[in-house]
Amino acid sequence: EGDLKPMDAEQLRENAHKMVDFIADYYKNIENFPVLSQVQPGYLRKLLPDSAPNRPESLQDVLDDVQAKIFPGVTHWQSPDYFAYYPSNSSIAGFLGEMLSAGINMVGFSWITSPAATELEMIVLDWLAKLLKLPDYFFSTGQGGGVIQGTASEAVLVVLLAARDKVLRRVGKDAIGKLVVYASDQTHSALQKACQIGGIHPENCRLLKTDSSTDYALSPESLNEAISHDVAVGLIPFFLCATVGTTSSTAVDPLLALGKITKSNGMWFHVDAAYAGSACICPEFRHYIDGIEEADSFNMNAHKWFLTNFDCSVLWVKDRNALIQSLSTNPEFLKNKASEANMVVDYKDWQIPLGRRFRSLKLWMVLRLYGLENLQCYLRNHIQLAKHFEELVSQDSRFKVVAPRKFSLVCFCVLPPRDKEDCANKLNRDLLDAVNSTGKLFISHTVLSGKYTLRFAVGAPLTEERHVNEAWKVLQDKASALLQSL
Ligand code: PLP
Repeated sequence: EGDLKPMDAEQLRENAHKMVDFIADYYKNIENFPVLSQVQPGYLRKLLPDSAPNRPESLQDVLDDVQAKIFPGVTHWQSPDYFAYYPSNSSIAGFLGEMLSAGINMVGFSWITSPAATELEMIVLDWLAKLLKLPDYFFSTGQGGGVIQGTASEAVLVVLLAARDKVLRRVGKDAIGKLVVYASDQTHSALQKACQIGGIHPENCRLLKTDSSTDYALSPESLNEAISHDVAVGLIPFFLCATVGTTSSTAVDPLLALGKITKSNGMWFHVDAAYAGSACICPEFRHYIDGIEEADSFNMNAHKWFLTNFDCSVLWVKDRNALIQSLSTNPEFLKNKASEANMVVDYKDWQIPLGRRFRSLKLWMVLRLYGLENLQCYLRNHIQLAKHFEELVSQDSRFKVVAPRKFSLVCFCVLPPRDKEDCANKLNRDLLDAVNSTGKLFISHTVLSGKYTLRFAVGAPLTEERHVNEAWKVLQDKASALLQSL
């Protein structure tokens, strides 16, 4: 025993074993927690001391506090009853990779700072590009390559900066106020944030309207129209962000047609497949990214629905030099022979921060310890469960499926009685609150064509059919009660 040292192999072994047991027990009991935390804001300050301790405390005391004070304030994203937003998978392989990465704890900004970190990242992203049947130029052996970003938000930001600087080299820096970005109104707000950071004028961010006639996909006609209008008044279209699997309703923008338009206008074409990209490793879903050969960049969150613990957002670019020209720096204190000789990739020039973790380890372990076939089964099973939920909803005439289900998300609502249609939004909002406050399941919502819509996203690693059935029963019961009280 004795005080904990900063690092000591035997103390690490003993304490880490305890921690692994603690985490394994957490997963064993995860269904017993309310999936959505039911605490009130500020709950934790009342439970913890005002200052850090002077003398060391024991791991057991900390774990007791985790159990008693932290867990009540945790929303259990890994619970099998979690159906909110999109999933954020953990897995045994992902967890082991994360553990190993924490163990090695290197900071791999340049090749020389840990050659294996850079080289494994390149290899693993080539592997994944192959599984997704991406075009050759996205591979590290071509003009482009892959890089692991923290999040989809960072991915769209770095490519927006690359695209901005590329067009400004052509038209001159002073034209920044004329640059225009396009996307549909279903595009994730990460794009808007990227525009804010990237100095794109807010009034030059075109979020083109979509509706149910295209299942909320961006129509090429509306893009063409917007571009023509902007060009006519002297503005410079330079960037399109399309989405495969939008956050609200899994809409899929038509990549091929949109890509042709960007090409003829000299624009950068980014494809955000943060959630749905994973499914495209299955041959039957690959068609959703048909047209990806038109894209300049493609992004998928392995940390969403690909069994890779957060964070691991995978970005491929067609032309790595565009990224490097925007993001590289070359200070004296980082100079080294390999970099100077241009023999290596230095990922610091492909991202915002300097420091970077060894994230490729967990993706490598996920791919190796599960293998393609099991990963495909995993994704198909969630899609099957979502199909099952969709059938349950369709069989109850008090409910309606409101957007076509493509992957593992079902958008639906409860219908008000005929004479009370104006209370539809309130009814659905009340239903969401009622089911989430039971702690038995957690779902989230969106608004489609002005209508408050419930989202049921299957995708947690432990979810089975019985969890879907039980969630549906809670939804039905709470809906019955609310409809009766109308
Ligand atoms: N893009 C899409 C389509 C998403 O669904 C999400 C998150 O759900 C994001 C981007 C943002 O992801 P991140 O948290 O990795 O920035």
